[in-house]
Amino acid sequence: DPAASVDLVPGGPVSTVTTSAPDSIAASGGPLGTALAQLSGAVSMLDLDAGMHEMLAVPRREVHVSVPLRRDDGSTVLFRGYRVQHNVSRGPGKGGLRFHPSVDIDEVRALAMWMTWKCAIVDLPYGGAKGGVTIDPREHSESELERVTRRYTSEIKPVIGPDVDIMAPDMGTSEQTMAWVMDTYSVSQGYTIPAVVTGKPIAVGGSLGRATATSAGVVHTTRAVLTEAGVDLAEARIAIQGFGKVGGHAAEIFAAEGATVVAVSDQYGGVINREGLDMPALMEHFVATGSVVGFAESDPIDNDALLALEVDVLVPAAVEGVIDERTAPTVRARFVVEGANGPTTGEGDRILAKNGIVVVPDILANAGGVVVSYFEWVQANQAYWWAEHEIAEKLEHRMHSAYADVAALARREDIRLRDAALAIGVQRVSEAHKIRGLYP
Ligand code: GLU
Repeated sequence: DPAASVDLVPGGPVSTVTTSAPDSIAASGGPLGTALAQLSGAVSMLDLDAGMHEMLAVPRREVHVSVPLRRDDGSTVLFRGYRVQHNVSRGPGKGGLRFHPSVDIDEVRALAMWMTWKCAIVDLPYGGAKGGVTIDPREHSESELERVTRRYTSEIKPVIGPDVDIMAPDMGTSEQTMAWVMDTYSVSQGYTIPAVVTGKPIAVGGSLGRATATSAGVVHTTRAVLTEAGVDLAEARIAIQGFGKVGGHAAEIFAAEGATVVAVSDQYGGVINREGLDMPALMEHFVATGSVVGFAESDPIDNDALLALEVDVLVPAAVEGVIDERTAPTVRARFVVEGANGPTTGEGDRILAKNGIVVVPDILANAGGVVVSYFEWVQANQAYWWAEHEIAEKLEHRMHSAYADVAALARREDIRLRDAALAIGVQRVSEAHKIRGLYP
């Protein structure tokens, strides 16, 4: 990267803070290409000038770090880590930490940008950020993951903090990961600072309802879009790709709300039962075996077939880019509710639109997680904990009012929900930029 480097902690562990980022604001491939193309669309819809476009396209700050790990067998291996703060005009950076073998800087840039729009759409006083380490957590012991997390945290420490940039779990990280981040940060400051992360265990200041918040938000937005179309959630047939923090809990909540979850999948494969999967039994099987594969009362189904099921609602809740020019033409769901970040490519999205499929976009549909992250941060700042029902009510209210804002704009302008959501997110951020003015 053609970057200006600043050593923030002379003499300390060296963190290189780079202040420049992509060479180009033009769309290329991958998640960043998708994110930049979405931004360009919103910029022309809102008629923003080229300078504003450039400021919104390029992250405010990026940190690239090396993360050496001493393995349990005594050998050493080096991983790459990143923290990208895309925008901080509306408040501190906010976003997850991902551990995945395919993490690279462009993916983290895209995910950070999506966090900016997401936080603005649900009207949180946050900017957008994201972190990642290029590592396959499945290949490491608990103690190796702890050391990687602590070293990564210590390397990016100069740019995070409860008022600066607040981390949360994402793919491959967990409540436990957040406890290690909080502990590492707190030890180095000399006192406990729970608000530096969200999505941490309840025992150390995590919020009730955070673990299921993203999924609950997916269900709220699904109900909202179905209601508008005159469909009762309890009559809906649903297929879910991904059975992790988002898809797994969403399947449970959908089933508890009376919907029929016909198919789910995870990284090892999928299962289908056209009468509806028995969710408590499937959960038991999943906890016992670590996968949905092999569940007794079901037939196997592969990922492509799951995406092509004739259902009311398809929920992609796994990785980016699964609905693309190859799979989009096969989608037969009436509604796609994006539990994952960036599951649909630009070309995939155009095909869904052409086929009249209604998409509830990621930056709205999966915002429930960061909403309850915000509640967790507010509780930590107040050192006062709320009851579970308060959190559930406040979450539902935020999701419904965000959905209502987006749906109203979509109706008024006769545009899709994704374009309306992007327009609202980008507009709120650019307005904050303009009101604050440019320093110096
Ligand atoms: N990783 C989640 C997301 O992509 C949550 C982020 C947060 O709570 O900060 O929205």
